[in-house]
Amino acid sequence: MLNVQDIRKDFPILNRKVNGKPLIYFDNAATSQTPQQVIDVIVSYYSNYNANIHRGVHSLSQEATDAYEKARITIQKHFNAKEAHEIIYTSGTTHGINLVANGFSSLLKKGDEIIVSALEHHSNIVPWQMLCERTGAILKVIPMNEDGELILADFDALLNEATKLVFVNHISNALGTINPIEYIIDRAHSVGAAVLVDGAQSCPHLKPDVQALDVDFYVCSAHKICGPTGVGMLYGKEEWLEKLPPYQGGGEMIAEVSFEKTTYAGLPHKFEAGTPNICGGIAFAAALDYMNAIGFENIAAYENELLSYATEQLLQIDDLKIYGTSEEKTSVISFNVGTIHPYDIGTILDKMGVAVRTGHHCAQPIMDFFKIPGTIRASFMFYNTKAEIDAFVVALKKAIMMLS
Ligand code: PMP
Repeated sequence: MLNVQDIRKDFPILNRKVNGKPLIYFDNAATSQTPQQVIDVIVSYYSNYNANIHRGVHSLSQEATDAYEKARITIQKHFNAKEAHEIIYTSGTTHGINLVANGFSSLLKKGDEIIVSALEHHSNIVPWQMLCERTGAILKVIPMNEDGELILADFDALLNEATKLVFVNHISNALGTINPIEYIIDRAHSVGAAVLVDGAQSCPHLKPDVQALDVDFYVCSAHKICGPTGVGMLYGKEEWLEKLPPYQGGGEMIAEVSFEKTTYAGLPHKFEAGTPNICGGIAFAAALDYMNAIGFENIAAYENELLSYATEQLLQIDDLKIYGTSEEKTSVISFNVGTIHPYDIGTILDKMGVAVRTGHHCAQPIMDFFKIPGTIRASFMFYNTKAEIDAFVVALKKAIMMLS
């Protein structure tokens, strides 16, 4: 069981007012809020041991290096990766995907096939299109149904010996659908294809076990998991990370450099050129510690309650249509009301202190599927409450009245 009133005390931002009204923050799928415990870690880093890592002999540098590498082990344990060097620090999900897509440029040939899903965020579409342009590989798409679920029979039909890679998100940011990634990984492996799972939206709600999933690559961003922006991780199976060439050249990622020839460092440094977001990595681990102390089972159970409660309340509003009606979904509700433009509703809600997302949510193909310009998206985290949902519904009804 989770005590939401106690939890809320950890989040200073939840006390602030916006436009004179108490903040109701329902834009968690874009970025989550940060608890004091993580803020303290960030302040402590810059107050006590800010220094560059891995190459300093002085004490501060060693303290920073130790904390950064200890954080990698926390991340490794959280995701149950076999080795710490299978965790590559990135600047976020987008960076992780681009790193893998770039690496595959040298492994693919003309006519090879890549499969993505109709439910992807642009960051899991565009890098693969660029990869196809570079290599002559062909991009295929797993379609979805009206509930916002992937059509698995069509996925099966797309698979063949030419399929080299499959990319799919674990949870859709636009609709909240939880995709059957176990099935997708299993089927993709049966034709010898590698699988990358975009975990940007799943990691705030569940705890993926990369070994049990047998996934080849898994990526996420810390800022969706109560951590800071500008840091994330790429998990890759050692055998794959060894095969991929480095993404960026620079300091930190080399073994030896001369003008004739450079040799690269081993994992994970081969993929970590330049000074990384040291504080961010340490704070990322602190955020995982914070969420694990609450417990992901408790988080999921509570967020499911919020989802059911909000869905019931919203469906009582005339002309309100929810997009993404799968039984398997997380605490994301994407909706429209009649023909009112989502942006207009979002703007009025903001005046009443309610933060929601409006627009295409970087998933234009999903909006095209439903033939809409965008939606209003309310997304909940474990620090939100039913009272906030009530206040949001009142504000929404006022907005609809003003716009009708
Ligand atoms: N994939 C999904 C499913 C997302 O929701 C997001 C963030 N909205 C991203 C990728 C990109 O994450 P980031 O901007 O942190 O790189």
